[in-house]
Amino acid sequence: MTRATVWNEFRHEREHDQVAEIYPDGIHVTIAEALEERGIDAETATLDEPEHGLPEDTLDDTDVLLWWGHDAHEEVSEAVVDRVQDRVLAGMGLVVLHSGHFSKPFRRLMGTSGTLRWREAAETERLWTVNPGHPIADGVGEYFEVDEAEMYGEPFDIPAPDELVFTSWFEGGEVFRSGCCFYRGNGRLFYFRPGHETYPVYHDETVQRVLGNAVEWAADGSDAPAPGVENVDPIEPIDTDDDRSVH
Ligand code: ZN
Repeated sequence: MTRATVWNEFRHEREHDQVAEIYPDGIHVTIAEALEERGIDAETATLDEPEHGLPEDTLDDTDVLLWWGHDAHEEVSEAVVDRVQDRVLAGMGLVVLHSGHFSKPFRRLMGTSGTLRWREAAETERLWTVNPGHPIADGVGEYFEVDEAEMYGEPFDIPAPDELVFTSWFEGGEVFRSGCCFYRGNGRLFYFRPGHETYPVYHDETVQRVLGNAVEWAADGSDAPAPGVENVDPIEPIDTDDDRSVH
């Protein structure tokens, strides 16, 4: 059984009534419950727990880590970021959600700033499936809509995605690469845009389907030994008297 850990900053839900009404137990619990219904074993972890709820043995047991953060990216310790990066390179999946575009693990693994344009106006977002054969798009259809969304617009400062699954159009006119796959070491990373905390996005059935698909896709990272640096003997004998040798 795939084992997911849903990590959430878990501050907005405790500080703002509007968010608490939508996610009384926190965004992480809503997402974990949706994954459980899908047959995924989902645990949760939050910023204010010791080691942010991500001690080494928890990450070692995690096939896919989901990451929701917004206000407190800078409070995430470098030690935990190192640990997440190492686990991804060794094959753990990572699903970065919404404002996680600015999180330390995402920027570390992208190597770019993650900057974008934004607007909060409860506008419609239409996510077009641009890669219908991709496992993350399974059962989603030609497009789906989020009725009330925060807008994220291009340019989005990320490396060109290895696979693009969704592209968003917003009522106000912008477009955005909203479902992006990356391969890093042995691991798989998916960035999924929807999920602003003041709208009930993670209660949406199609959004939950995408998250389940993404976890199953990201869980399929390689189990091969993580690539290392090694001085190796030649496979074939090398004739050092050959003309090709350096004089
Ligand atoms: Zn937001």
